[in-house]
Amino acid sequence: MTTPRHVAIMGVTGSIGRQTLEVLRTAPEEFVLDSVAGGTNLEALAEVVKEFNLTRVGIARDDDRGAFARLVGPNVDIVTGAEGLRELASASALVVNAVVGFAGLPVTLATLAAGNRLALANKESLVAAAPLVQQVRASGGDIVPVDSEHCAIHQCLVGATGNGYRDVSRLLLTASGGPFRTLPADQLSSVTLDDALQHPTWSMGPKITVDSSTLMNKGLEVLEASALFGISVDRIDVVIHPQSIIHSMVEFIDGSVLAQLSAPDMRLPIAYCLGLPDRLATEWGRLDFAAGLHLEFSAPRRDDFLALDLAYGAARRGGAAPAWLSAANEVAVAAFLERRIGWRDIVAVVATTLDSYVDVALTSVEELVREDATARRVAHDTLAH
Ligand code: NDP
Ligand code: MG
Repeated sequence: MTTPRHVAIMGVTGSIGRQTLEVLRTAPEEFVLDSVAGGTNLEALAEVVKEFNLTRVGIARDDDRGAFARLVGPNVDIVTGAEGLRELASASALVVNAVVGFAGLPVTLATLAAGNRLALANKESLVAAAPLVQQVRASGGDIVPVDSEHCAIHQCLVGATGNGYRDVSRLLLTASGGPFRTLPADQLSSVTLDDALQHPTWSMGPKITVDSSTLMNKGLEVLEASALFGISVDRIDVVIHPQSIIHSMVEFIDGSVLAQLSAPDMRLPIAYCLGLPDRLATEWGRLDFAAGLHLEFSAPRRDDFLALDLAYGAARRGGAAPAWLSAANEVAVAAFLERRIGWRDIVAVVATTLDSYVDVALTSVEELVREDATARRVAHDTLAH
């Protein structure tokens, strides 16, 4: 790269945010970190501000402004809440959205509306707001996917863009299968929070780790892939691949399949998104083929992991159904993380919540925010019964 690229990281204190900083540290001449934002972990955020000498930073709650100002000193401009995220996301050429959940929506929309590049980890915003994202994407911003599966597909589709993907027959999203991949169905009711937090191949934040255990993460990723690449969910399949070496595949109409391989390490897709169209010379995730690679594939257990069918169903229904799916899932996962419900209840709450959904076409952000709030209310009511 010739001139340094200006970057903002939203959700910098989380798993993806911290790994993005690791990538930046390897290429200090190529990137300038303009700003960061976090939620409520003020001490960790203040460390980042100090290390990178930042003068603009976002925090979730205006109430924390005074406490945070004491940590970072008087020369840092502090913005707060959704408006703060929008401000920061509008101001940098490349914005990494590593916020978790629907709270990442302002980042996704503001980045694209400003014509900036969005390195998207926050799948929930795209799943919930797909029709709105398509509109705002047309204003010049582009999305590069941090999510490893979509990043793999992005790499496999290079050169296949000229004809609206007519040569593509299917996207094959790989899934590790999570910690309960081989657990007999009758034991799934007794799994604990600690069991669910033991992901076999990836170390991630708590919400996505639980989502991986239910396969809701893969369901959200089917919706994410459909929105990112403009391909119907009927042409997206999920393949269980426990080693997490192949990060996803594209099958073409002549039967050829392209795949992207590396060790499971999120710093690779993050570096790909930061560097695009160039590749950064990094050392992570190398495979040792001489040591022997064992790659297995199988179909998901759809009858035991109902989240997948719920996601396909929400995709086919369209409108605000994916937003309801994701909102109900956030409520249920939060309750599970607080040990208020069991593991099986997570997907049951989502299914019951979706039963109350009445079809609505999403035409505005205000409408989406209303639908999200309604879905959360219904999910909370479901939890209470
Ligand atoms: P974490 O829980 O580790 O981090 C979440 C980040 O979001 C934290 O920095 C948190 O701040 C911040 N945050 C939460 N609420 C707000 C808010 N209202 N305003 C500003 N910041 C907020 O999550 P992950 O890094 O694991 O995941 C982030 C996103 O990336 C998710 O959407 C996930 O699905 C996706 N993803 C993650 C992968 C991974 O390997 N971790 C892989 C692929 C996708 P604080 O801590 O200060 O509260
Ligand atoms: Mg993923």
